[in-house]
Amino acid sequence: MEGNVVGNGSQAADVGIPVTLPVQDTNFPSSSNTESLLSITECPVCFDVSLPIYQCINGHIICNSCLQGLDQKICPTCRVSLVEPTRNLALEKVLKNYNVRLPCKYSLNGCMERRGCVEKEAHQLVCPFKTYTCPISSNNCRWEGRLDEIVDHLKGRRRPSHFVPLLFGETATFYFPAETDAESQLAIQIQTCFDTYFLIALKISTAADPNAGNEYFALVQAIGHAEEAARYAYRIELERDGRRLSWEAVPLGISDSTKQAMEKGDCLCFSSKTMLLFKNREIDLIPLVVTISEV
Ligand SMILES: [Zn+2]
Ligand SMILES: [Zn+2]
Ligand SMILES: [Zn+2]
Ligand SMILES: [Zn+2]
Repeated sequence: MEGNVVGNGSQAADVGIPVTLPVQDTNFPSSSNTESLLSITECPVCFDVSLPIYQCINGHIICNSCLQGLDQKICPTCRVSLVEPTRNLALEKVLKNYNVRLPCKYSLNGCMERRGCVEKEAHQLVCPFKTYTCPISSNNCRWEGRLDEIVDHLKGRRRPSHFVPLLFGETATFYFPAETDAESQLAIQIQTCFDTYFLIALKISTAADPNAGNEYFALVQAIGHAEEAARYAYRIELERDGRRLSWEAVPLGISDSTKQAMEKGDCLCFSSKTMLLFKNREIDLIPLVVTISEV
């Protein structure tokens, strides 16, 4: 029997000689040392493990999103400058090359998913445990919650709430008063059709030229991920006395910034002067007609 054994490491082990086998890609890290590897690589600010990993000159690591979010660019561990942070490529390579399964960033919210470095980012975009901030960004609301809680937060079933009206159907008209204050962003209505909720957002800003009055920006955002939003198109129209001002586009997804879209002019934009041409004089309101269709 022994004569059949070919000389290799297992033969040495079989006969009781202690050997140290090299660590191999396929069995490193084991589930037991994955946890200690994760605790070494986790960001000390948010406790998430994600790439790229940055470090200060003393070697303390920090994740990219926490680094970007620092008010003062100093290391949260030792307070040296982080104005010129360096990457910790060795740690990044360990996580990548050994395909370490990283926990979802929303694991503290209850998500049990574990993915490789690249797949983790894709999962987190659509993770059902992802935390969203209030989509009405400019009213200092500090609410945070899951995607399926946003509509209740906006329309008033749970407190705090904004009591945003909910309208049913593919076409709905919202009337807003011509004297609405500038520098406000209003979620003017939630519209539901095709089993999806849409938020119609209106922002009013003071124009750069003080004589020009206010500027108005209106768009539609799906209360869903970008891929769901891409299945629809919307049209916002002002119409009166033979005049028509119309804008058509794909709704933003819930993770898209309405502020950025409005700053880029990627929405229906009009001035106070134009707005007054569409005022319904009997009721002193501006009618904004929103139509949502499937593409
Ligand atoms: Zn972090
Ligand atoms: Zn440091
Ligand atoms: Zn998740
Ligand atoms: Zn809110």
